[in-house]
Amino acid sequence: MEVAVVAIGTELLLGQIVDSNSARIGQMLAANGFSSHLQLKVGDNHERIVAALELALRDADAVITSGGLGPTQDDITREAIAEFARRPLREDAEVRVVIEELFAQRGRPMSANNYRQALVPDGATIIAQRKGTAPGLIVPVGEKVIFALPGVPYELDDMLAHEVLAELHARRKDATVIRSRVLRTWGLGESRLAELMAPRFEELEGSNVTIAFLASGIEGVKVRFTVNTTSEEEAAILLDREEAQARGLLGDAIFGVDDDTLESVVAQLALTQGISIAVAESLTGGMVASQLVRVPGASRWFRGGVVSYATAVKEELLGVKTAAVVSEEAACSMAEGVARLLGSELGVATTGVAGPEMMEGQAVGTVWIGMSLRGHSSARRVQLLGDRERIRTYATATALDLVRLTLSGSARGFELAETDVRR
Ligand code: ATP
Ligand code: MG
Repeated sequence: MEVAVVAIGTELLLGQIVDSNSARIGQMLAANGFSSHLQLKVGDNHERIVAALELALRDADAVITSGGLGPTQDDITREAIAEFARRPLREDAEVRVVIEELFAQRGRPMSANNYRQALVPDGATIIAQRKGTAPGLIVPVGEKVIFALPGVPYELDDMLAHEVLAELHARRKDATVIRSRVLRTWGLGESRLAELMAPRFEELEGSNVTIAFLASGIEGVKVRFTVNTTSEEEAAILLDREEAQARGLLGDAIFGVDDDTLESVVAQLALTQGISIAVAESLTGGMVASQLVRVPGASRWFRGGVVSYATAVKEELLGVKTAAVVSEEAACSMAEGVARLLGSELGVATTGVAGPEMMEGQAVGTVWIGMSLRGHSSARRVQLLGDRERIRTYATATALDLVRLTLSGSARGFELAETDVRR
């Protein structure tokens, strides 16, 4: 099943808005195992939309369009599809009623233009509008089909996840089940991961399992397994097998699966171990705390944080005694200090040189992450690359990863046992 994408709107061509809809559609198709090899962008011009539909549908079984279903003069997608599919537009009584009701509810007058949104190509199925006024359309073209979705992203998302996906599954001729699982990693580069996975890669060559590496910046590198099989059960067995294999090869570089994030994993570990966390942040300026509170229910284990940016604050509030604030000693003192101050078991600290200038004779990107558990502290230096923003975000992720490794007892985490106190 091959699905092409056509994003409609002159503003896309002018670069006034970025075509995130096509990206969303692409993600949905990939996640559900539909192949998609063509995405087009076309302006609000009748002939060119018809031509784009023709090109898109030539080698595909289905086309998903976005945009141009609204009430204004430049919204001409339904007319273009009607012409291309040779299905005249007729007014749909039900759609008309829904639009009238929507306007009545909002107490707004309805203009004649709004009735255009009730026009539907003959023989098309309507995707009811739940969030906006424009309904989506499912328009058969011989054996093939065009899905016309509104341009507003959250309206499009909703229809994509429900009606479009259901119809695509129903039209899938083969009985294949395609499922994916994403293993989330942090700390190793894409090429190193590929190197470690190479033996498995070779074994899987020509099989019904594929591996893809997706370098995702601050989200780490994702390792995605896709299996192509005949039943849900079989797919689950294969994905479990591949996950176990990958864990054997990559170890604790894997921090989670699918929707897991570094902060959600930290949250889970803190909760199950009954450990509360507080953070003292210098170069990350609150970013670690901000990431942690993204997790719902964070108040159960997150005590709070101190943005100890000025040296005086490090000294007076956290008890840092050294003059060198980018140092092992400072990172340890900050972690201990904030745990004491905020009454947490675990204290986490970040201090470093975000740039653009060197500091205390230390290179830009020098970062110390400190941790203190029940009074025993330790710190580690990492050297990060990039501009100020990148250094700060990577320092944040590195700190979260070190918490994750430490709480899960990894040899790569901190050893915060009594015997390992460095100071
Ligand atoms: P409406 O009923 O709101 O007019 P529509 O189907 O006519 O919806 P458009 O008028 O083409 O859609 O776009 C509406 C808005 O949706 C645009 O102003 C833009 O903000 C957003 N949008 C449209 N196309 C895209 C796209 N491809 N990617 C991201 N956003 C888009
Ligand atoms: Mg519009």
